[in-house]
Amino acid sequence: MNTLFLQANAADTPQIAAEIIQNGGLVAIPTETVYGLGADGLNPDAVAKIFQAKGRPQDNPLILHVAQADQIQLFCRDIPEAAYRLAEAFWPGPLTMVLPARDSVPLSTRAGLPSVAVRCPDNAVTREIIRLAGVPLAAPSANISGKPSTTTAEHVLHDHDGNIDAIVDGGPCRVGLESTIVDLTEDRPRLLRPGGITPEQLLEVLGDLVVDKAVTAQIDQDAVVKAPGMKYRHYAPQCQVLIVSGSREKAAAYIRSHFAPGDRVLCFDEEISLYDGCDPLSYGSEADVATLCAGLFSALRVLDDPSIGTVYARCPVGGGVAYAVQNRLKKAAAFHIVDAEVEA
Ligand code: AMP
Ligand code: MG
Repeated sequence: MNTLFLQANAADTPQIAAEIIQNGGLVAIPTETVYGLGADGLNPDAVAKIFQAKGRPQDNPLILHVAQADQIQLFCRDIPEAAYRLAEAFWPGPLTMVLPARDSVPLSTRAGLPSVAVRCPDNAVTREIIRLAGVPLAAPSANISGKPSTTTAEHVLHDHDGNIDAIVDGGPCRVGLESTIVDLTEDRPRLLRPGGITPEQLLEVLGDLVVDKAVTAQIDQDAVVKAPGMKYRHYAPQCQVLIVSGSREKAAAYIRSHFAPGDRVLCFDEEISLYDGCDPLSYGSEADVATLCAGLFSALRVLDDPSIGTVYARCPVGGGVAYAVQNRLKKAAAFHIVDAEVEA
């Protein structure tokens, strides 16, 4: 298959992409979070192609992307008032809500669950594609399953050239991490995945929030979890990743004393000079955590190289969007963390 490469700002791109979707094809779409691999979310055959192209486990449900908030009534039922408040506050934007599904949503889209995840992305061209297609787009992150997510059209081309119908190039993704997911199907709202909308922002609107255990700890492969995707090893380069926490100086001393030829260091702009001779790679500035979100997956892709031994990684501390960076980096490291304050 010849994969069409479409520019997001070309006048005919939305129409071309929408027709491919209507015909059951696969189109990679830009969003503010990461690139998605989109198909008609109401067409089980099209949805099956997403799972196949990504090598995605069948029990991992997809997010349905809508062009405007009121469309969730077509796909969700028993919608609590909190969902409308969240949509008002954060849509279009990097927030996904899990709600009870209507029968109109095929079981394959929601991996057999009684609920469905919905989101309205903050990307005008992608919303126009959804509007013209006349169907919601099922769209997981466009990476091959288990690999770092796709935050540029080139990442998508690398993973899927010749395997999907088209890629819409909208430039690098603004946020760079997947959406925040909040489950609204139980008595209390539950954070299933941190992202660009922070726990603090959710609390302000909801007044209450439970953090699911899969956000902060490694989950067994056979565990029953609320967001099935959270139990899989994710975002992981082929080499071992070890997070080194602690002060800048202690971490540098630990890493420099353990560093072996072929290892790499993933650090902040502010730390590059501490790692002369250790092949450091910066993913953004510690002083501006948004740059770390935007840079993390590109950096993990650079480090996805079997010839690398260990990647020593530095992780931002604190809440806000740093919480989402911590979650992704800990998953990439399979929760291997060493505290340089206590270990030399
Ligand atoms: P991705 O599309 O790669 O961002 O992954 C989507 C994430 O949403 C995965 O972690 C899924 O497990 C999660 N998800 C999708 N639908 C549901 C649902 N109905 N209930 C809980 N989690 C969901
Ligand atoms: Mg994903």
